[in-house]
Amino acid sequence: MEKNIDIEVLVIGFGGAGAVAAITAHDAGTSVMIIEKMDHGGGNTNLSLGGFLCLKDFDRGLLYLESLCNRVFSTLEPEMIYAYAKESLNNQKWVESFGQRTHAYGGAAFPELPGADSVEKRMVTGKNSTEENSFWSFIRSEVAKREITVLNNAPAKSLIIDEDGAVKGAVVNMNGETISVKASRAVILTCGGFEYNDWMKKNYLKGYPYYSLGSPGNTGDGLAMAQRAGADIWHLSNVSTPLGFKAAEYEAAFLIKPLSMQYIYTDKPGKRFASEVTDVHAYNYLVDLFDTQKLEFPRIPCRMIFDETVRRAGPLAITAVGFNRGRYQWSKDNKKEIDNGWIVSGQTIGDLADKTGVGRHMLENTVKRYNQYCESGNDHDYNRPRETMKPLCNGPYYSIMLWPSLLNTQGGPRRNSNAQVLYPDGSVIPRLYSAGELGSLFGLLYQGGGNIGECLAFGRIAGEKAAAEKL
Ligand SMILES: Cc1cc2nc3c(=O)[nH]c(=O)nc-3n(C[C@H](O)[C@H](O)[C@H](O)COP(=O)(O)OP(=O)(O)OC[C@H]3O[C@@H](n4cnc5c(N)ncnc54)[C@H](O)[C@@H]3O)c2cc1C
Repeated sequence: MEKNIDIEVLVIGFGGAGAVAAITAHDAGTSVMIIEKMDHGGGNTNLSLGGFLCLKDFDRGLLYLESLCNRVFSTLEPEMIYAYAKESLNNQKWVESFGQRTHAYGGAAFPELPGADSVEKRMVTGKNSTEENSFWSFIRSEVAKREITVLNNAPAKSLIIDEDGAVKGAVVNMNGETISVKASRAVILTCGGFEYNDWMKKNYLKGYPYYSLGSPGNTGDGLAMAQRAGADIWHLSNVSTPLGFKAAEYEAAFLIKPLSMQYIYTDKPGKRFASEVTDVHAYNYLVDLFDTQKLEFPRIPCRMIFDETVRRAGPLAITAVGFNRGRYQWSKDNKKEIDNGWIVSGQTIGDLADKTGVGRHMLENTVKRYNQYCESGNDHDYNRPRETMKPLCNGPYYSIMLWPSLLNTQGGPRRNSNAQVLYPDGSVIPRLYSAGELGSLFGLLYQGGGNIGECLAFGRIAGEKAAAEKL
């Protein structure tokens, strides 16, 4: 027999957006339940750095966000960005109202845009462990303090929709049992992106394969459920992605960030193709070119070529964040990874080319040309910033393969400034809300800290509005 649970507000997905929405709906006096697919909550939020966007000044912050979106022809309604800016002004205050301390660690990703001086990235001050970052530790404990019920290992399979199209709950699978969770006020979808749904990545993103740095629970379930309810979909091709290394024996990719600058990227034939230094979230733009003559993506995967100085500078991978955190200890001198066969070494550049199957002359010429630019201080090909131009001249030399490795996907159901999910004609799907990276407002350009900022901003809006729905 099918089991029923009755609740007022149902939150689907226990990451940052789900936690914020649940806290807000609970504090507004409603009964709330969170259902989570995995055996514990956290999602990408707990695997992230935990930084969140704040604005110091509303008008200038709004100007920055508008110009960021306009640069990429965003489809956002003006009131969406207005709501995001208004809430972002309160993010710091809201987090600190729970007795947390926060500190700034960065600013605007694109300082040349107007209003950039008003953007601040902040973090919850506290310890990060291999289990939790300080943001997740804070927000999860606020859910626990309120004794909000969280059902783990409970993936939502479909939404319950009445004859008028209003969303009335969800069908959940728990330990082989089917449960109908009836939500008398509203359902809030906060189940993250589609970083681990290969079909969606193949269909929605440009280039293949894209791996993920985050949680394997994010398989696009929210997107599919919202589509079945008739939702409009937006920002599907928008992602933020650095480059990472994917080992066959690990589910997630490793975020690769060398601690010294003696490195370049080369495409499959061994040619340099871009300034290696760009905003960490925008590496998809460097690698997603398609060669219409060879009929392939010549930069997926690409290779990072580096010298002994980089090898000795410290671990190539950052394992303090991402799904591999606590699962793999990258060696300080990168020797274990050379032994693993993940990094290939050669005494000379020519030797390295032979070992990696790249044309010897091509790779030697690539490195020679780059080293000449280092000497003159001008990268005539790709304009890499002068202070980052360090020659590869200290052998042995090394190569590691790199793929775009997702921090998030931004696509999902379109929402309005009340966090309500919309039909394609712009009208509201009754009693269905969303928050977080599922249907993020970010367009083709992303501002770091923006996603957790969005969990806070739209988590609060969704929680408040869902709690205010009539019984
Ligand atoms: C390494 C890394 C570093 C990052 N650093 C930052 C940063 O510093 N600042 C920033 O703003 N962003 C950062 N990001 C991106 C950011 O972490 C995410 O975009 C954001 O945390 C998403 O929050 P969310 O609540 O929308 O989704 P998530 O936190 O991913 O939570 C979604 C939850 O829904 C669950 N779920 C999925 N399907 C179902 C289902 N059918 N039923 C029930 N539950 C389901 C998932 O298991 C998951 O727990 C980073 C990401 C990574 C991977």
